[in-house]
Amino acid sequence: MQSRHLPEYRAALDRLEARGLLYPCFCTRADIQREIEQAATAPHAPDGSPLYPGLCRALSTEQRMARIASGEPHALRLDMARALASVSTSLDFKELGEGRVRCRPERFGDAVLARKDAPASYHLCVTHDDALQGVTLVTRGIDLKPATDLHRLIQTLMGWPAPTYAHHALLTDPTGRRLAKRDRAATLRDLRHQGRSPTEVRALAGFPD
Ligand SMILES: [Zn+2]
Repeated sequence: MQSRHLPEYRAALDRLEARGLLYPCFCTRADIQREIEQAATAPHAPDGSPLYPGLCRALSTEQRMARIASGEPHALRLDMARALASVSTSLDFKELGEGRVRCRPERFGDAVLARKDAPASYHLCVTHDDALQGVTLVTRGIDLKPATDLHRLIQTLMGWPAPTYAHHALLTDPTGRRLAKRDRAATLRDLRHQGRSPTEVRALAGFPD
């Protein structure tokens, strides 16, 4: 359970912070939106969210300490440029059935590794937990494939091993919409109850027999 590993997540963040690869971000969504509206260009991450424009990256140590001391809520962001500069090799990962895939973690900009409302982000938790549990094959939906670029960067920074990855197709409804829990879409169990065989369900997700 992730809630049992909060001290380890904190320790990982501390290690990155000690190397100057993290910085506190005090921005609200409105701050970020305002800054993006004023900018000439607004690049977007693979998930469609605008890249963080870097407002808090330029704060001085004194400003950061004063704002933290005053109790202002903050997230912790990865300083992407510094992180990439500290990694000497180009990053890639092994995709099952495809071979080596080149990583471009810079597409995520200064990603959040600890949120204001949560002590660690998805990206930090999953990479930490995979390393802890000795996971050698990560199987996820294709929608999460871009995030693997960021995960390989975190693994490399932390000295965690690189698993092999298998990203499978997403199941869609008859209109082509992906099945999502929030839409109360059919589950794998529903598909089985409808008489689909395990082989058929695997084929829908693009797995070989
Ligand atoms: Zn900020």
